[in-house]
Amino acid sequence: MLTLSKVFGEQNELVPFISSYQNELETVKVLHTLPAAKQQRFNELTHELLDSLDDVHDLKACAECSRSSREHGNAVYTKRSKTNESDRRESLLLACRFYTHAILQAENVHEELCLGYANRGMALQDFGLYKEAYDDCECALEYGYPQKLQHKLIMRQAHCAWQLGDVRKLREHLSWLEQQQLNAGYVNQLEQLQEQLTKLQEQQVSEPKEELTSEQAPSLQILARNHKISNSPGEKGRHMVATQSIQPGDIIFKEQTACFVPLEPGLICQQCAASVLYAPIPCTQCHQRVVYCSRHCRQLNEQIHSYECAGYRKNLFTMLGVSHLALRMVLCYMQEWLTELGKGSNVQEAWKLLMAKASKTYDWPSASQGLLSLCMMSHLDKAAAEELIYYALCANLLQVYLHRCTNFYEQLEVKTREDWHLLIAALILRCAGQLLCNGHVGDTIVLRSQCHTMESKLWRAPFHLSLGQMHKFDSVALTTALNLPYLALCNHACAPSIRLHCDGRAVSCLAAQQIEADEEIFNCYTLDYRNSSCAMRQAQLQQTFKFRCKCIKCASNKPDEIFLSFNRYRCEFCAHIYVPSQREEFKWWESESNSAINCSKCQATQLFNWFGILRRTLEFCSEQQQRRKAYKAFKELDTWLLDYHSLKLHLAQQLIAACLTAKADGATFDDSDYKQLSRILDYLLAGVAAQHGADSMTYISHLTYLMDLTAFGKYKCSSEQLKAVRTAINYLPTDTKRIFVNYYNDFIEQRIAANGNANANANA
Ligand SMILES: [Zn+2]
Ligand SMILES: [Zn+2]
Ligand SMILES: [Zn+2]
Ligand SMILES: [Zn+2]
Repeated sequence: MLTLSKVFGEQNELVPFISSYQNELETVKVLHTLPAAKQQRFNELTHELLDSLDDVHDLKACAECSRSSREHGNAVYTKRSKTNESDRRESLLLACRFYTHAILQAENVHEELCLGYANRGMALQDFGLYKEAYDDCECALEYGYPQKLQHKLIMRQAHCAWQLGDVRKLREHLSWLEQQQLNAGYVNQLEQLQEQLTKLQEQQVSEPKEELTSEQAPSLQILARNHKISNSPGEKGRHMVATQSIQPGDIIFKEQTACFVPLEPGLICQQCAASVLYAPIPCTQCHQRVVYCSRHCRQLNEQIHSYECAGYRKNLFTMLGVSHLALRMVLCYMQEWLTELGKGSNVQEAWKLLMAKASKTYDWPSASQGLLSLCMMSHLDKAAAEELIYYALCANLLQVYLHRCTNFYEQLEVKTREDWHLLIAALILRCAGQLLCNGHVGDTIVLRSQCHTMESKLWRAPFHLSLGQMHKFDSVALTTALNLPYLALCNHACAPSIRLHCDGRAVSCLAAQQIEADEEIFNCYTLDYRNSSCAMRQAQLQQTFKFRCKCIKCASNKPDEIFLSFNRYRCEFCAHIYVPSQREEFKWWESESNSAINCSKCQATQLFNWFGILRRTLEFCSEQQQRRKAYKAFKELDTWLLDYHSLKLHLAQQLIAACLTAKADGATFDDSDYKQLSRILDYLLAGVAAQHGADSMTYISHLTYLMDLTAFGKYKCSSEQLKAVRTAINYLPTDTKRIFVNYYNDFIEQRIAANGNANANANA
């Protein structure tokens, strides 16, 4: 198989050096106006690369694997307990996992797919995930479930429709079943469901219960008219300004994008970006690299995916990074841009017309997202020649891909398609340039990496975790790359005035601090002043965003004071307090290479024996004696790591997580354990709040420990802390929020009531 770097390397040698930059169209033209022999070789290389990426799977072997997984599932499902509720639940979840494996392994073998879906639907229904079970039955039918057994699936769908309160679907399925020859057992079920239908109709439930899939259309909600967009000449350009005083936590706007890509396409819904997928539905054509949370989402993404499916099959997009999101922009906004592009009689003219649109001033809130996107800044003109050629080659590759592997060009309704490949490549290149300095990466709280959504002990009911399992949601992951042109209007400062909360395709922008009228509103593009030194930030801002930051923090005479306060050590030899001299040494525990750290006064290399001791005990937290050792070792860190030292916070987190995992796996804790853990947790939360802010995702992920300890009744949670938990939960994306709210209401609410505290109920 050819590699991208090899092909790009060779292509690069065929292309003349681009010494002066005009625009994206002129840049891609360079790749298409080579001397004939060179041009031929250049094009061949692109074609060879695309062809070599096709990896064909042995469908017979896939079917074999799928069947075996399904049979494992069946064995577990059949043996499920009829008497013990928690054993029964564990079997159902395990069976679901096997069935999901069966579905993912089946590739496009319909005989296996239909059985995998039918069986998973059965287990999901038993567990109470009716919406997912309904969809699975529908999938089983789609992939050709045997006709003579179809009444089983339709009966299951009718049952789910009843549970979901969906009168229309229930009526539809029952009338189908009434036409069939059914045995006595099924006739009995049918009659019961008919009674339920009558009841539902009497209640006049016409709409199905809540639909979690969010609205998909791009939108911009200016919830309060507290800001405006101004335009200044020079570096400042367009920016956002408060028109009145804004309080911390006040919403400034909410932007929902039409255009995003999941960073883990196999774990995040391609359409709505949901991250908790009980029953993923894969596209069967692209090696299960793309999944959806529901059939509805799969359907909504159908058109976009028809242009991307072949690319996913070739695993093309992971190689291209930001250029994939650039392609997605072209796919999403093309229809809108076409009205302008179509007016041009040739490519040059079409490009000019569209760029004229990009330079106009618009009424920002009401302009369409496609239009706002056209106006985003790009720094390709300041890029180094090798950077420019790299993105141009990516754009060219994607353009050829659209031509060779999809019907994208056929559906473009334009008078002449001559040279349109230049235009498409130029647009992809332009979007990539814009995204390099405007693209947004969305984060959310996810299950820690070794956990599976269907882990047997995790759930007591759908979206309800079992007691002591909350801490498994203690990871923050970057899950999406989004195009948010309105947010992109904010300039950068190292101490941002806003904070952002992602919910699928939408981002809410809230004031992080008091903002006065006429003050500029700043976003932070990279690490903030608490988590990086001024030099680190300036290097990154210069490289990616091509400017030098002059914000209050960078301009102050002690720009690194706060950051360094999280990295102060006491020398093991002379007791001098120092910070490491090299910035690579700041997070030495995260890297494999063991660079020596020396005291800045006596120059002695530090031994850090305490680090090894604590790390070793973490592996044995199921043993009480080892835990005692760990608590003691942690206490001793006070000598060597000062204040809220980053490493001490890291170790506190590791220790608490290891203990809660041991507890969930059956270790017995006594009151002294809880006392120690509560003390460490207080330190951890205060430190994380200081370093990341008490509204950050990192902080919320650490609150899961507090929630577990409180649920056990072993942590004395103050009413302020409880209020903070409830507030934090509200910042989570819809699917995760639901889980946190349920845990709060199931376990913590009871504790408060038992302790006679204020009666507080978290709202879903
Ligand atoms: Zn979805
Ligand atoms: Zn596909
Ligand atoms: Zn700055
Ligand atoms: Zn020293």
